[in-house]
Amino acid sequence: MNTYEPPIFELSAPGKIGANLPALDVPAAELPANLLRSDDLAAMPELSETEVMRHFTRISQRNYCIDTGMYPLGSCTMKYNPKIHEEAARYAGFAGAHPLQDEQLSQGALRLMYELQTLLGEISGFDAVSLQPAAGAQGEFTGVLVFRAYHLSRGDTERNEILVPDSAHGTNPATAAMVGMKVIEVQSGPRGNCNLEDLKSKLSPRTAGLMLTNPNTVGLFEQNVREVAELVHAAGGLMYGDGANFNAILGIVKPGAAGFDFMHYNLHKTFTTPHGGGGPGSGAVGCTAALAPFLPGPRVEQYMQDGKPAYRFFTPAQSIGRVKSFWGNFGMLVRAWTYIRTLGAAGLREVSETAVLNANYLRVKLQGTYPAAYNRTCMHECVLKGQLAEAPQARTLDIAKRLIDYGFHPPTVYFPLIVPEALMIEPTETESKQNLDAFVEAMLKIADEARADIEILHQAPTTAPVRRLDEVRAARQPVLKYDAAKFAQLREEGSARARELATPRT
Ligand SMILES: *Cc1c(COP(=O)(O)O)cnc(C)c1O
Repeated sequence: MNTYEPPIFELSAPGKIGANLPALDVPAAELPANLLRSDDLAAMPELSETEVMRHFTRISQRNYCIDTGMYPLGSCTMKYNPKIHEEAARYAGFAGAHPLQDEQLSQGALRLMYELQTLLGEISGFDAVSLQPAAGAQGEFTGVLVFRAYHLSRGDTERNEILVPDSAHGTNPATAAMVGMKVIEVQSGPRGNCNLEDLKSKLSPRTAGLMLTNPNTVGLFEQNVREVAELVHAAGGLMYGDGANFNAILGIVKPGAAGFDFMHYNLHKTFTTPHGGGGPGSGAVGCTAALAPFLPGPRVEQYMQDGKPAYRFFTPAQSIGRVKSFWGNFGMLVRAWTYIRTLGAAGLREVSETAVLNANYLRVKLQGTYPAAYNRTCMHECVLKGQLAEAPQARTLDIAKRLIDYGFHPPTVYFPLIVPEALMIEPTETESKQNLDAFVEAMLKIADEARADIEILHQAPTTAPVRRLDEVRAARQPVLKYDAAKFAQLREEGSARARELATPRT
């Protein structure tokens, strides 16, 4: 695994060719002079087709993915992506659909979108759904735009503040700021929930809304959610639900009934469309009837044509406009629809029950060694701390790097920010007990190693294609452009450092 794979330019040899074009069967023509480039074309790699294929296949095999192993990245819900979804998305009628095709010729695709809107609305307790946004973060951006449009439509023009708990994902404050809102942080209490007293002190006639994740980003159910919603609504604000953790409560809690006005679904997390390099995201959004007129279009509606249901696009009356071209990431909608339909209501509930059970299994097995951030039953993920008794030098980063040597993708580290040395572990429902046990065994072994010889952890990873990277230097002195001499020099320095690390200390 440690062999170096050079950039494709370094594999190039002049004159090699990877494609044979047929002989010209139309008259040769000169291109207009204004379309010709005047500077020289930079050297393009010249390789045979076999070499190109092997180069990219070798690189792809270095990519750790859910298809090769457990990926317990907290908050990200890296669950198995069933292959039946891929099959459905590849049906010619879906894969070959063109967004500019006439609606009458796209009835199957429109029906699927209509059904997915309805299913997501039913699962979450919302009246209306838009499938447009391309990711959770874009769903958040959409939601805050909708909040603003709603307040302005009522002549309520002073609301320019969004409250965000200190445990929130970074996209919450970032998207609110992009809309032009002022972000106000709300503290968490000792049990990891929103601190109601602090919330009260920050609500005002300028409050446009609060963004809340439930279960929250420390993996705990926000037990005060009703009180939080009542307080925010009483102040004239709206409740945004960050649905990234929806995997924990499918079929159990409807956010629409728990006081939320708007929410995004990460189809690539909860609804198992591929992510982490595997495909574009999809961040559908749902909301109450009061906010529906502001949703981005197009949405799909059903109508009767010759006594039969038919489907067409429409744009809500006071829509904030489009947030994505055409129909959103349609291929992901097919996969999410397939997921919901193959599992059904009972299956979805079982997903969440198993996800929560798996996370608590890991928590109970590990918290004697890795202290739990909060001594409570967790939801679908547990937050531990990489603070080991009798190994004060060990840090969460060391533990994460050593896990790579044991064949596991590390969990999320140093997030949420309010937990020091955080290790946020989300096994998901798609791992077997054997895999969970193997993960526990690796974690406990790492703790033993840390106590016996901390250098084992400091040198990790030793089995990955590259050793531990100098992240500070990479950030301070980035090399962003291909430069053969510079690459060679960095490689030499890297190997020297690896040799130094590999030399046993006396
Ligand atoms: C992943 C995540 C987001 C952002 O979603 P993207 O789809 O990655 O844009 C927001 N909040 C939480 C809690 C998340 O885990």
